Amino acid sequence: MTAPAKPISSSEPDLSTYIEDFRRAGHEAVDWIAQYLANVPDLPVLAQSKPGDLYDALPESAPDQGESFQAILRDFDQLVMPAVTQWNHPRFFAYFACTGSTPAILGEMLAAALNTNGLHWKTSPAVAELEQRTLDWLRQWMGLGENDVPSADSNAAGTGNASGLPNKWFGIIYDTASTSSMHAVVCAREMVAPEARTEGSRGDLVLYTSDQSHMSIEKGAIAVGIGQNNIRKVPSDAQFRMDTAALARLIQQDKAAGKRPFCVVATIGTTSSTSVDPLSTIVDIAEKHGLWVHVDAAYAGAAAMLPEHKDILAGVERAHSLVFNAHKWLLTPIDLSAFFTRRPDILRRAFSLSPDYLKTQADPRAHNLMDYGVPLGHRFRALKLWFVLRYFGRERIQAMLRQHIQWAQDFAALIANDPKHRFEVVAPVLFSVVCFRFRGKHADHRPDGDRPSQSAEPSAAKRSDAEIDDYNRAIMERVNQSGRVFIAGTILNQQQVIRLAIGNLGTTWNDVQEVWDLLQQAANAV
Ligand code: PLP
Repeated sequence: MTAPAKPISSSEPDLSTYIEDFRRAGHEAVDWIAQYLANVPDLPVLAQSKPGDLYDALPESAPDQGESFQAILRDFDQLVMPAVTQWNHPRFFAYFACTGSTPAILGEMLAAALNTNGLHWKTSPAVAELEQRTLDWLRQWMGLGENDVPSADSNAAGTGNASGLPNKWFGIIYDTASTSSMHAVVCAREMVAPEARTEGSRGDLVLYTSDQSHMSIEKGAIAVGIGQNNIRKVPSDAQFRMDTAALARLIQQDKAAGKRPFCVVATIGTTSSTSVDPLSTIVDIAEKHGLWVHVDAAYAGAAAMLPEHKDILAGVERAHSLVFNAHKWLLTPIDLSAFFTRRPDILRRAFSLSPDYLKTQADPRAHNLMDYGVPLGHRFRALKLWFVLRYFGRERIQAMLRQHIQWAQDFAALIANDPKHRFEVVAPVLFSVVCFRFRGKHADHRPDGDRPSQSAEPSAAKRSDAEIDDYNRAIMERVNQSGRVFIAGTILNQQQVIRLAIGNLGTTWNDVQEVWDLLQQAANAV
């Protein structure tokens, strides 16, 4: 990077130098980004630094005099980059793989340039209205009900459906699914126990979610004072879906004990295995008892954009809220979590406070976003999503999702067709994630394509699960140490499992196959 004509100092505010300096460095930064995106497959996926390396390499205090972009970018390259784990890498297969795509990068840059804050409509109509429109596009792609022009009070405006809920979905962007789901829990409390807003929780409200649901549900409930003892982890079935008979039983038991069931959270695409809870049945049960139904579709909501997977959201037309993360499988860099609710009136009732310094005129089409959640400030996140949806368009996004789903199937087939039968797939492959497990050093051949059995060798047959868990962890460690790929694990049925999650736009089948090659090498070596 070239040095500024003069370092910028507050005593000498020279706007034109300041802007020209940015123009030069900005062009170079965009070139850097383009080169980075082209070269990222050659970088190690996992940061190669040790704890404390970056911290120790940085000066103990910030500079008194401004520095040049050249100096800052040199340190970014030399000090910061080695400590970056490359989430934008095509061979990042851990957690839920994702993509910070080029249109979104531009959207982020422009949003930062505007630095506009949509706390209420007047403070930036663009933030409120682009968000409404973009989320409505997203809603349509996900097949979430019908809608027309959203109003600030869509409960009153909505025509209502069989469940008595308005037909319209109101959307708002929060940072993460964790925040979105916490807001859902507050809505549920506001619906069932409105006194809690003024009096606090009495400790009798009970929330239900499966034992496979994301920890953010529990965390959200803890944060709003529901109390961990009032969170029921409903057992799941053999395919890791919420056992709805158990849900019904638990609600009855809690009611009999004088508790107040208030919320059930269904997961469409659980974090470990991407299992899909039976939403329709869950809603049937919730309706009988007057519970708020929140749907966590943070990852798999993207799959609902494919007609062949639309049914994963069956029942959502009777749910109260849903969260979907564009920063998972929808090409948008962290953070962008879309929260939809049919009861924005309740969301607003739960969160609006109007101090004198923020009073504004009422207009049914002017959304004051500060009324719909904890944060006052509201980032222009919609801009990057708008760029993504327009640049790629629905068909290209659908093609990517289908490709990833197909490769997950193909990877599972590699495991199933391996003549050595050393690995097995341990959960249904519904989307772009495969959960599998090394079966042990002495796992034998399958005689007729049946489920793999443990070796006939007595010592191997007695091999403990703990020992096989250790092998699985050692294999993951070896594979990741290669620097070529990053995979992570989870626990299913109390067993250590390895997970392959496909989700990056740049991933190719060769990248996926490389994981299989590395796994086999690691299995030979452990
Ligand atoms: N819900 C599910 C199903 C998830 O898998 C995750 C994260 O992986 C979350 C919620 C939390 O997402 P966030 O990091 O946006 O809070």
